[in-house]
Amino acid sequence: MIFEQVPIGPMQNFGYVIGDENSKEGAIVDPGWNADKLIGAAKHHRLTVKKIILTHAHFDHVKALQEVYEKTTAEIVLHEDEPYEPDFENSTVTRVKDNHIVKIGALKCRIVHTPGHTPGSICLLLGSKMITGDTLFVGGCGRVDLPGSNPQQMWTSLQKLRKMDDTLEIYPGHDYGETPSSTMEHEKKHNPFLASATKKEFFTSRL
Ligand SMILES: [Zn+2]
Ligand SMILES: [Zn+2]
Repeated sequence: MIFEQVPIGPMQNFGYVIGDENSKEGAIVDPGWNADKLIGAAKHHRLTVKKIILTHAHFDHVKALQEVYEKTTAEIVLHEDEPYEPDFENSTVTRVKDNHIVKIGALKCRIVHTPGHTPGSICLLLGSKMITGDTLFVGGCGRVDLPGSNPQQMWTSLQKLRKMDDTLEIYPGHDYGETPSSTMEHEKKHNPFLASATKKEFFTSRL
């Protein structure tokens, strides 16, 4: 698997370039800023960008979507509950649900629906790696005080992630932690939001 974390924009965002080494089909995740940097990273890996996947549709994750779309004409993939309608000329938009498999060549990307930060927030499971958008950060979690946010749902989503394999590598939507990536095992031990065993604890630590 080709997998590159790309620092973009002024808000410590990470975009991602992923791809299948054999077919050279690729995808760009969260084109918030710096379309040329993301497309350049895909080119560097000799990938043809077939899909653009959005972990959610806040402006800092979609600001460069139109430019990336116009330069790649890739299919746009986002969750069915996300209140955002990409509307570019001739664009193909695929709405996904929990557990949906998005294929990038032979690479399989499983959608994990994790509402809370936004209704249609998703994490992307790629083998031993998971892109967690603004749901799970290294040492933190996404804001739940924004329009469309829901702290109760965030708690449920974090519990869902807690049940996942300790060896999973975590790749967040922002570089807010001590390190740009982490592991599920480390986050379960050190991330106060993931370690919260009870709702009460979560709500009082967050709000
Ligand atoms: Zn966000
Ligand atoms: Zn964000």
